[in-house]
Amino acid sequence: MPTATELSNRAPQSAGRLRPLLSRLSIRWRGLFDAPNLTARPSLVFLELASPAGFLPKAAWGSVVASAPTNAKIILSGEPLLSPDFENVLLATDRRGLHVTVQTDGTRLEEFAPVIFGLDAAAVTLRLHGPEDVHNAAFNSRGAFACTVRGAIALKALSGSTCRPRLIVEIPISADNHSRLVEAVECAVGMGADSTVIRHARPGLLADRTAEPIDLAVLASQIQKICDRWPVTLVRFAPDLIADELPRYYSSPRSFGPSRCFVPWKSITVSADSELCLCPSAPVGAYSGQSLSAAFNSAPAQSFRHSVYRSLPRPCATCPRRFSE
Ligand code: SF4
Repeated sequence: MPTATELSNRAPQSAGRLRPLLSRLSIRWRGLFDAPNLTARPSLVFLELASPAGFLPKAAWGSVVASAPTNAKIILSGEPLLSPDFENVLLATDRRGLHVTVQTDGTRLEEFAPVIFGLDAAAVTLRLHGPEDVHNAAFNSRGAFACTVRGAIALKALSGSTCRPRLIVEIPISADNHSRLVEAVECAVGMGADSTVIRHARPGLLADRTAEPIDLAVLASQIQKICDRWPVTLVRFAPDLIADELPRYYSSPRSFGPSRCFVPWKSITVSADSELCLCPSAPVGAYSGQSLSAAFNSAPAQSFRHSVYRSLPRPCATCPRRFSE
């Protein structure tokens, strides 16, 4: 017969085991009876300045920058340093005092480092695919790694001990680099990264027989070595999976992960061909220069939020943003 003390010690553990079930029940309850708030203010605005199809026209980026909420984070994506308007976009965001992150592979970063530093970008996110040979192979260019490193060093030389722009190195996990992540992080640290984010490949990848395989035992061992060697303040994983979760994440995404997603309530992307989307599953029409708030709360946008609120659409099963944002 357990004593009263033993019973009271067990109570929090039972509550802990019940918590996921209770939270699922409360989610279903809310979904059935609450009226969801379908309007919102964008807090993450992705501006795809360049794509293989062309560059985002000035009329589009100009009205987005002019109408973005002052507390929104603007992310310049799509290899923005190739855009002829890159400097003007940064000038416009600097005038409004907006928080800007430049996402780049390092192409022309060495050349534009003074502009990025001088116009007060908050962060540069530099994509690194692995150590030198892996990174070069990803770009099919023998000079790609050297170019990326030179860009990072140029930026760090300017920013010195100031905190802007922060250099964030992003390493996307792939079949080609999953066995060499420790080396990749060593490269990022050597470049002077303020932090490194290692992004898991898409959920359910191993269920797709056409995708290149990832050896999960090898990946788990690399993750363990990185966690043993660097603190989470310097190197983190997105999503932050423990070894036991890797098979479920990569093999059966439908039974794993958050059952809700709030990305459509906070994020919007304006692509280089002036199309708007809330997230990969939600194109919501062409951008015609209206205010960002009007575009963000258009009828198609609200309709998509409504469907996401009721239950995640099927394509969400393989979307990594559900886990990390
Ligand atoms: S999980 Fe679904 S709703 Fe969320 S960002 Fe991905 S595609 Fe969009």
